[in-house]
Amino acid sequence: MEKLLVQKFGGTSLADAGRIEVVADIIANTISEGHKVAVVLSAMGEETDRLIDLAKSIHAEPNLREYDALVSTGEQISVALMAMALGKRNLKAKSYTAYQLGIKTNKMHGRARIVDVKVEKLIKQLNKNVIPVITGFQGMNEEGDITTLGRGGSDTTGVAIAVALQADECQIYTDVDGVFTTDPRICPKARLLEQVSFDEMLELSSTGAKVLQLRAVEYASKYDMPIRVLSSFSEGTGTVIEEKEDMERPVISGISSPVSDAGIDVDVIVQNISADNTTDFTFTVDQSDASSAEQILQDTSESLGGGSIEVDDDIAKVSVVGRGMRGQSGIASKMFQALADHEINILMITTSEIKISVVIQKDLREKAVNALHDTFQLDKNLDT
Ligand code: ASP
Ligand code: MG
Repeated sequence: MEKLLVQKFGGTSLADAGRIEVVADIIANTISEGHKVAVVLSAMGEETDRLIDLAKSIHAEPNLREYDALVSTGEQISVALMAMALGKRNLKAKSYTAYQLGIKTNKMHGRARIVDVKVEKLIKQLNKNVIPVITGFQGMNEEGDITTLGRGGSDTTGVAIAVALQADECQIYTDVDGVFTTDPRICPKARLLEQVSFDEMLELSSTGAKVLQLRAVEYASKYDMPIRVLSSFSEGTGTVIEEKEDMERPVISGISSPVSDAGIDVDVIVQNISADNTTDFTFTVDQSDASSAEQILQDTSESLGGGSIEVDDDIAKVSVVGRGMRGQSGIASKMFQALADHEINILMITTSEIKISVVIQKDLREKAVNALHDTFQLDKNLDT
């Protein structure tokens, strides 16, 4: 059956001219199978990092309008080269910037949100069998200025285009085979998941799994657009993220443990009232924010006449995620028992309906992930 697909490719998939040819072959293959494709691209390799460094070398806090004008250029290079590469394969292709298409965003430079996507032009081209090749990451605001969607924002462009075109699927090509039960670099038994629900993927993304920009998952979930994550480096059908009616599911689908560079603001929060009527207030922030957080607390604490501040750098957060835990009791105690059996002390705990997170000592992270992966038998496919 002919499908309308959006295929989005990330920076590592487009690292150099050779990789652009590989990706052009993937697109050409999809076309030869009889599908229609709209392509969304990131900048090549580390291009966006290079542009950001360049901006910072000129001005420590660059003007945000100009910052966006600069960092959005990486994507424009990718789409023009890809249209050429597709042309070489006797396919009709045209590159488009967000400006040319009218991808409208709000005015938050550097982290804009898409508010409207015009697709008339795209549909016209698709009907003429032209492959539109669209810049990810960019938009334009009401003033007609270029905006960008935040790091990793091309995923969101891909989903937004797919939603606007009412595509059958948004395929996000990356450098991993799909979504795993946990990070394969930490846990050798990590298993590729065939299917994950939106709510599970939201929890996995917000607790450290970096496969997809969180915003892209939110967008897809809101409009019920299936996302397929797959690799441009190897064959395989990857992982589909979609809403599925509850079938018999494993209780836990995945375990995530962000390393310290995950872009989390204030995260796990615990408050204790102690016997002497003082309040202990504990929360976690990203490692890179630790010193500024400490400074802010120092200042407020003085003005509040408050007590002391302690910073602990040596912690890690490990989360188990699964919609099967909804309405199931005993998951938390099973998790805590497994950690206790491995002599892993829990420092803090938070839970949501489908997630339990614990904060532990950093050097025990790997041990904890592996212990939990075993306890919840994630190496076994209980789906089938
Ligand atoms: N090129 C942008 C970045 O590096 C957007 C993206 O890759 O999704 O963040
Ligand atoms: Mg990315």
